[in-house]
Amino acid sequence: MPGDKLAIIEQFIPGNGTYNDNGTIKSAVLGNVDFNCKNKTLSVKTKSSEPAILKKGDNIYGQIIDVKTQRATVKIEKIVNNTRSLALPYTGSIHISKVKNEYLDNITDAFRIGDIIKAEVVKINRDNVDLSTNSSNCGVLKAMCTRCRSYMHTTNKTNELQCNICNKKEKRKVSNEYVN
Ligand SMILES: [Zn+2]
Repeated sequence: MPGDKLAIIEQFIPGNGTYNDNGTIKSAVLGNVDFNCKNKTLSVKTKSSEPAILKKGDNIYGQIIDVKTQRATVKIEKIVNNTRSLALPYTGSIHISKVKNEYLDNITDAFRIGDIIKAEVVKINRDNVDLSTNSSNCGVLKAMCTRCRSYMHTTNKTNELQCNICNKKEKRKVSNEYVN
């Protein structure tokens, strides 16, 4: 996940898909970590050769690209625990009823454009991929503040995030795997 701490600079040389943040090697992209012990390089690879096909029951990582009254649209980036990249560029959607177990008034209290999420594939019908974030491990994994575009961290309240810089609090459907 972008911003994930992978190692410290004393351990590895930051390679492709990573950056050095004050001595900590962090991921710059969404992908799989590759430790090269021979030349001590750590990189993050976004793609590999054989494509993967999406199926019902898969968990996916994606990014929110649109939010309407009833639906959030997700660009599906990869299948969780599958190193292969997807065969097709998939777009999925989360209906307001599939966001969480409780009633949700407004889908913008759960997702905003740019959020990186984890979701489960509940139905595939031709090009329509229906996603759900009901599970506690699904939902927003990384989000930016809508005011200043800095990353946000979890608070002690459920489904609330707070900006690292301007301290604005925002609602999301937060995954229990949120990357602080
Ligand atoms: Zn902010």
